[in-house]
Amino acid sequence: MTLNRRSFLGTAVSGAALTAAGGIFSSFKSNPGMGLMKSDSPILKISCQEGVAPGKELNEKLDFIESLGIVGIEFWGGGLEKRVAEIQKILQNRKLKVSAICAGFEGWLIADDPAIQKKCMDSMKVIIGAAGELGSTGVIFVPAFNNQKSLPDKEARELLLGQMKELGDFALQNKTRILLEPLNRQECYFCRQIADGASIVRDTKSEGAAVMGDFWHMTWEETNDRAAFLAASDYLHHVHIASRKRRKMPGEDGEADNYVNGFRGLKEINYQDYVSFECGSVGDPKVTLPAAVKLMNEQWEKA
Ligand code: MG
Repeated sequence: MTLNRRSFLGTAVSGAALTAAGGIFSSFKSNPGMGLMKSDSPILKISCQEGVAPGKELNEKLDFIESLGIVGIEFWGGGLEKRVAEIQKILQNRKLKVSAICAGFEGWLIADDPAIQKKCMDSMKVIIGAAGELGSTGVIFVPAFNNQKSLPDKEARELLLGQMKELGDFALQNKTRILLEPLNRQECYFCRQIADGASIVRDTKSEGAAVMGDFWHMTWEETNDRAAFLAASDYLHHVHIASRKRRKMPGEDGEADNYVNGFRGLKEINYQDYVSFECGSVGDPKVTLPAAVKLMNEQWEKA
C-alpha cells in the first residue's frame, strides 16, 4: 500500500482541529467583539499594516483598504498608548478591526544584560495594555535579532519561558495575546521555524501566548508551508504575507508567489485569525495592493 502523505496529514489533523474548536482561547468566547471565536469553517481575513496602505492620512488609508474588502489593520506598537483614543475614534463607524500590533518595544527579551531584559518587559507591557484597549488579537515580538547580544540558546530558552509566561498572563488579563514571530536566519538564529516557536509557546503554559507565521521568513526556513502551519495548529494566531523573492506585494514576484500550500494548512487547522500584509511594493500600491488581495482570495479558493 502506498501511503499518501497528503491524506495522511489531512487525517491526522482533522482530529486536532476538532479538539482545537474548544481550544485554548475558549476564555475569549464570551467576547465576540474580540473576533477570537472559533467558527465552523476557516476564513481568510485579510489585514494590512498601516505603513503598507497607500494614503497620507489614516482615514484615507482605511477608506482605501476597506474598499478592497480588507478587514483588519495592523499598527506599529511604538507609542501606541498615545494613539489609543485617536484609533478608537477613527474605527468607531467602520467594519475594520485592529488585527495584531507589531513590536515597537525597547530592548530585547533574551539579552545577556538584565537591565535590557527589564526594559523590554516593561515596554512590552505598555504596548500590551494599549493593544488590549484596541481589541487587538496580539502583540508581535521576537526574542532578539542576530545583532543583539544575547544569552546562549539553552539559557535564553529557559529565561524566555518565564518571561513569556508573565507577559502572556498579563496579555490575557488585557484580553489580548503575545505573538512569538520566528524569523529567517539572516535576522535571527534563535527561533527560525514555526514548529519551534509553537514548542516554546506550548512550554510557556500561558493561554495568552501564541505563535505566528510570516510567509517571507517561511520561504527560507520551512520545507513545507502547510506542514509548518499544521505543526503550530491551535497555537497559531497571526500570519504575515509578502512576495517570496523580494518581500514586496504578493504577486510582484510572479510564479514564486504561491501560498496555496500554506493556505491549505490554515484551512486544515480551522484558522480564524488574520493574514496581514507586511511588505513593500515595487509598483504603485494603489494598483499592487488590490491585485494582491485578488491573488490571495483566488489562492485561498484553490487551497
Ligand atoms: Mg513579519
